[in-house]
Amino acid sequence: MKAILPYVLLLSALPALASAQNAPPTVSVARWPQDRVAAISLTFDDGINSHLDFVGPILKKHRLNATFFVTTGMGPWEKRKSEWKQLALDGNELANHTVHHPCLLEQITPHSQNYTPAMFEAEIRDAALDLLKTLNSNRGLTFAYPCGNMSFGKPQEEVANAALYLRYVSEHAFAARAVNGGPVNPDELNVLAVGDLGPTAGKDFPALLAQAETAFVSHNWGVFCFHGVGGDWLAITPEALDELAAYLERHADVWTAPFGDAVRYIQERKALSVHITSNNLTSLDLALQWPLERQIYDLPLTLKVQLPSAWSPITATADGEPLETRVTGRGSLGASGSAKSTSNDLTKPSASPTEILLDVPAQTKSVHLVASAR
Ligand SMILES: [Zn+2]
Repeated sequence: MKAILPYVLLLSALPALASAQNAPPTVSVARWPQDRVAAISLTFDDGINSHLDFVGPILKKHRLNATFFVTTGMGPWEKRKSEWKQLALDGNELANHTVHHPCLLEQITPHSQNYTPAMFEAEIRDAALDLLKTLNSNRGLTFAYPCGNMSFGKPQEEVANAALYLRYVSEHAFAARAVNGGPVNPDELNVLAVGDLGPTAGKDFPALLAQAETAFVSHNWGVFCFHGVGGDWLAITPEALDELAAYLERHADVWTAPFGDAVRYIQERKALSVHITSNNLTSLDLALQWPLERQIYDLPLTLKVQLPSAWSPITATADGEPLETRVTGRGSLGASGSAKSTSNDLTKPSASPTEILLDVPAQTKSVHLVASAR
């Protein structure tokens, strides 16, 4: 009986040390790629000359990509097709803003009050077909509602037509931008009515930055809606856009991405299921399921994995292919790589887990992590 006592003591002492150093791994998908703090999308409506003359060059200068919601039957879409194509080749998104921009505002023609369902469906469908042919892409399209209106036709048809409008959009787009919702919480995405950050016409850089900051502080997605830049209508100056773009370029902790890519990330993150299938002292296996259509939802997701503190260095593979891992500063003991931490690990039962980030390509089925205990 006596002989058991030290054994019991040892058993009771061990879990305290083990639970801290070998706490069960946890896996989650980062809110934004590379665990950035927030997301911003720059979107430009109406397919107008100032987008080609000013916006394209400013984006290129600051190595940013944006979304252009073009109207295919108006403005310079046909005349300057090769320049629009070049914007897409540079990584920008060309998206659907109908053929003729029908809307309910009195001062804008054509008036969508005069539209039948068949006419309105054609506005969305024909622009989509033109865009898909021009882009030669299967990645899908997004849409922006002309004037932010979400119905058409006579007042007595408004409710029924609002439902039809959404149906037409859903048949030709995987997401749509509406107006004035403020920053978007990715966990509460309304995919066919994504709000923007509010009016931008006439605003200077400090005023635009104040709009963006509402997204930064809430870790949400801020969607800018611009029209003219240095010309056309509802314009801001090229200087204001240049300063905003320079700011976003400098702040790599903010994810600046085309509208469609932000939707892809949000939707994939929501849909992904990831399970730990095996876990021992030196390796971890994850099984992943990506239920969304692979042609459209093709962005990598950033997995955040919390591992026992002693796991370092770590190597990872995705379906057998090498995967880059990044140890974050957060909760990671000895992240500085100093030799001192090696001896400290054993005497610090309160050691917090190591957090690593993994960019996992879309449709990856399995991730394998191997640790080399220090
Ligand atoms: Zn418009």
